[in-house]
Amino acid sequence: MEKIVAKKSLGQNFLKDENVLQKIANTFEVSSHDLIVEIGPGKGALTKYLVQKSCDLICYEIDERMKDILDSFQSERVQIIFDDFLKRDLAADIKKNYTHIYVIANIPYYITTPIIEHLLTSSLLISGMTLLVQKEVAMRFSALPRTREYGYFTVLLQHFFEIEKIFDVSPSSFSPPPKVMSSVVRFIRKKEIISLDIFSFSSFLKKAFAFKRKTLKNNLKDYDWESISFVLEKNHFSLNVRAEEIPYEVFVEIFKKLNN
Ligand code: SAM
Repeated sequence: MEKIVAKKSLGQNFLKDENVLQKIANTFEVSSHDLIVEIGPGKGALTKYLVQKSCDLICYEIDERMKDILDSFQSERVQIIFDDFLKRDLAADIKKNYTHIYVIANIPYYITTPIIEHLLTSSLLISGMTLLVQKEVAMRFSALPRTREYGYFTVLLQHFFEIEKIFDVSPSSFSPPPKVMSSVVRFIRKKEIISLDIFSFSSFLKKAFAFKRKTLKNNLKDYDWESISFVLEKNHFSLNVRAEEIPYEVFVEIFKKLNN
């Protein structure tokens, strides 16, 4: 078989450390009524462990050069889709009803945020995710208010998940090695998720954090300041507060007040 040269433009850093691969594959206990979604299976390093699970598996790979390798995994329980994951309608691809849907993947770093946004805004109910991402990005996922890493995406993720970094992975575990450290992060769906329109909440948060140095009042000029200031005062925040100081719960309260 012809040697597949890694394409930088597709974020191709293939994991070669079998110990790390097995640990990632085993982060969730699955049953036969569950589904695992893998994004970017590449040469199947992680896929070969995921197909051993008792559940169904659906994989999305953009690079057709992997076809010969990945097609060998296809079965009644395993579906491989060769396409750009970001363009897929997940609900249409996943035809059966599952008890739990888990995402387990070593994703291409250049589209980490779009991949997670695509998952969150699909109508799928995702019970958990284990993702191998750039360490710096992993820190953003579970950052606390008043830290440099805290931002729009931190708050959006907190709406759905309890987030925990499980372990770091060094560049030498990959071929070719990436320039950065990586981390495996586990997301577990919260038992109770506050019901709100996720598209408007996400766009509200993006605006709140749009200019980091500006106050919330300046960033949210298009929103009713009276409602916002009512919630801020109730929670003992100064009216000159910046978005990075505000915890998830207060953002939800402001958003709800605005949509009352
Ligand atoms: N899972 C493999 C492993 O651990 O060795 C490969 C991981 S590599 C970091 C990321 C993979 O995602 C590559 O195989 C790449 O071709 C694929 N990929 C990149 N962009 C994609 C996209 N938009 N949709 C689906 N797959 C994509």
